[in-house]
Amino acid sequence: MFTPAELLEINTLLVPENKIVILTHYNPDGDAIGSSLGLKHYLKAKGLEAEVVVPNDFPKFLKWMPEAKKNIIGEYKRKVAYDIIHEADVIFCLDFNSPSRIGLLGDWLMKAKAKKILIDHHQQPEDFDFVYSDTVIPATCQMVYHFIQAMDDEKLVNKDIAECLYTGIMTDTGGFRFRSTSATTHKIVANLIEKGADPSIITSNTWDTNTVSRLHLLALILGRIEVVNEGKVAVLYLTRQELQEYGFQKGDTEGFVNYGLSIVGVRMAAFFMEDLYEDFIKISFRSKDDVDVNQFSRKYFNGGGHINAAGGKSLESLPDTIETFKSRIAEENL
Ligand code: 5GP
Ligand code: MN
Repeated sequence: MFTPAELLEINTLLVPENKIVILTHYNPDGDAIGSSLGLKHYLKAKGLEAEVVVPNDFPKFLKWMPEAKKNIIGEYKRKVAYDIIHEADVIFCLDFNSPSRIGLLGDWLMKAKAKKILIDHHQQPEDFDFVYSDTVIPATCQMVYHFIQAMDDEKLVNKDIAECLYTGIMTDTGGFRFRSTSATTHKIVANLIEKGADPSIITSNTWDTNTVSRLHLLALILGRIEVVNEGKVAVLYLTRQELQEYGFQKGDTEGFVNYGLSIVGVRMAAFFMEDLYEDFIKISFRSKDDVDVNQFSRKYFNGGGHINAAGGKSLESLPDTIETFKSRIAEENL
């Protein structure tokens, strides 16, 4: 948590005269949108206005969250996003650890005059004016809740805040399954339910929303999962042509990589996907126990994240990227 002195200073920044902006990472997921909107609604409950700016668009299954549709999407509204960041007095940076994780907005963030406040649970955070980083906590949404507690404002938690924070905790813990899910996580979730977050409605809004294109893509990749390295590593992929053919929509491939990790004996899964528009491969890594995909992705694929969940990129072709990956895992003895 921030130190008491930092909290006092943050408190003096949170006044109606200051323009407050909330930024989150590229390809926002449930935790990114949930923490940003949860914080926005908390600030609103304190009588403050804040603007949420995201680098690019996010899936429909996150747009049910209160005020999600008011988020400024940088890729569609560049000038508006630039002006907001440029004029901000305070910028909250949620669920990312480095300006490079927010695309174009990263340059604007670095040049902005605002005080920058980081709340994030990824490994190796970079420099911000105020840093609350804890890699043991499963979701940034949980950290926003701890921040509200530290500000002595738990009484302000309302239904809007609760719904947003519940969503991010649910998605980033894989439905309360992942290792970092703790008793504290569950206690907070219990509070959020008491404040009006409805688990069955939120689960249904967020997860029971399959598109036909998603199911067709899933059938395709499940049919050709490859297991290499003596059964320890699963490889999945999708080409741009397949995405186009099946009518890919944003968010369709969310969670696909977990199917690889669910195979008995597999300790690491990698999912490679050609970008729909630009010539690069987006990679998702997942792992079990002490297999550190954050380090692996930082070392070889220009990425990072958490020990058991990370992302990366490659500028090689898809077949070359997969070949390179296979030689790296052999070298690393995974
Ligand atoms: P996903 O595979 O779901 O895209 O990402 C898994 C985790 O790694 C998320 O916490 C995400 O924020 C992080 N991540 C994804 N891509 C990148 C990347 O290119 N660089 C870094 N540093 N982190 C990433
Ligand atoms: Mn997160």
